[in-house]
Amino acid sequence: MSSPRLLPPSGRPVFGRSERRDRAVRAAVRADLLAPDETPLAAFLDLTGIAETVAALRSAWPPEIAVEHTFAAKANSLVPVLRVMLGHGLGCEVASPGELAQALAAGFTPQHLVLDSPAKTRPELEAALAAGVAVNVDNYQELARVDALMDGAGSSSRIGLRINPQVGLGSIAAMSTAGSDSKFGFALSDPGARKDIISAFLARPWLRWLHVHVGSQGCPLELSVAGVAAVVELAAEIDALAGGSRIEGIDIGGGLPVNFADDRDDPSFADQVAALHAGAPGLLTGRYLLVTEFGRSLLAKNGFMASRVEYTKSSGGRAIALTHVGVQVAARTVFLPESWPLRVLAYDAKGLPHPVGKGATVTQDIAGPCCFAGDLVARARDLPPLAPGDLVVVPDTGAYYFSTPFHYNSLPQPAVHAFEVDAAGDVHFTVLSRQETVADIVARTLGETTALSATAPGDAR
Ligand SMILES: *Cc1c(COP(=O)(O)O)cnc(C)c1O
Repeated sequence: MSSPRLLPPSGRPVFGRSERRDRAVRAAVRADLLAPDETPLAAFLDLTGIAETVAALRSAWPPEIAVEHTFAAKANSLVPVLRVMLGHGLGCEVASPGELAQALAAGFTPQHLVLDSPAKTRPELEAALAAGVAVNVDNYQELARVDALMDGAGSSSRIGLRINPQVGLGSIAAMSTAGSDSKFGFALSDPGARKDIISAFLARPWLRWLHVHVGSQGCPLELSVAGVAAVVELAAEIDALAGGSRIEGIDIGGGLPVNFADDRDDPSFADQVAALHAGAPGLLTGRYLLVTEFGRSLLAKNGFMASRVEYTKSSGGRAIALTHVGVQVAARTVFLPESWPLRVLAYDAKGLPHPVGKGATVTQDIAGPCCFAGDLVARARDLPPLAPGDLVVVPDTGAYYFSTPFHYNSLPQPAVHAFEVDAAGDVHFTVLSRQETVADIVARTLGETTALSATAPGDAR
């Protein structure tokens, strides 16, 4: 299941991404995966697309460079999804005890894990260093904790400092990590900061990695390349002062942005490597071991959500389609629609694309199921007139959407289906995760039911 089984002998998929999506929607309706009453919302991951994307990542990097590509678990931490990424030979970047446990459950070995959480507790650090998980340290107080652990048990882990190169913000402030006052990492250009970082390395022979992650989405390539270049320059300076090759490797993080406007991968991994060649050539000399931590760029475009239209109505001249895709699976888009616009595609009740350009379109809002007025995945979209039972498909949601649910209104987490399209065009589904039941929701929220009595306070019993 981890690698595509059904490719033709040429090894190249016969169908492109949008064709595979159309076939999957049609097949999902036939297979009753979008049953109007029982499972009106479901999520889908295109395994062929994932294989193509990972192949594009690998082939973008010069073969003579030693690079370990890891998948950033927060982008989609469903354990079966992590297992797919493991099957493609990736490592895994984790940022919490939960993500670490999910990665281990998926089968990753500690040697292929990188721990980057900003607020690591002592036990978290101790466990990571004992297991040999690579650790990127965020600040001086954390470094003091690592010192204590290294003086005690020592560790085989690769240990690095996360550097904030302070190169500036991208277009989405909340997703930018390298502003001058970002919460992440060791600031590099504050007064005296560079000298302190270098001293920290010189005092610790086991400190041999540098880490940088300039931001996620909204950061242009030049900005992230500038951040990498600053760290490469720092590495050379530390090496020179340590009198040898002290810096073993550089972890350049993730953050390649995703194009939400159409089906192209733009920018591509190859675009990024070309930009690194131009802007940070010292990275690609073969001198350093390299690690990457891509999340959204590996999965976003290989996943979509589909929902039945439950009702349609008009209110104050505004056409509204009430669907099941809302804030519970699209929190960023609903709360910050300008920063996170998503496409919406219209399909009929049988799962066939509504023909575009045939018949008039209607300007419609696509509303979700939650009880607040702003629960809209799209506003004022020109779409074929939708009717109850039709389907809306929201592409580019393989990362940070259905896998990061928001429990508003106690809506269930939708089922997640992986699919492959064979050379004959037939679609094969595998359930990665079933839809939560109401019993699951109650179990998740049951708490300590015996903690308080059901009687009013002060009642004599
Ligand atoms: C979120 C994150 C990533 C992945 O970012 P993407 O934009 O999904 O590629 C990688 N490294 C770190 C440290 C992160 O916080």
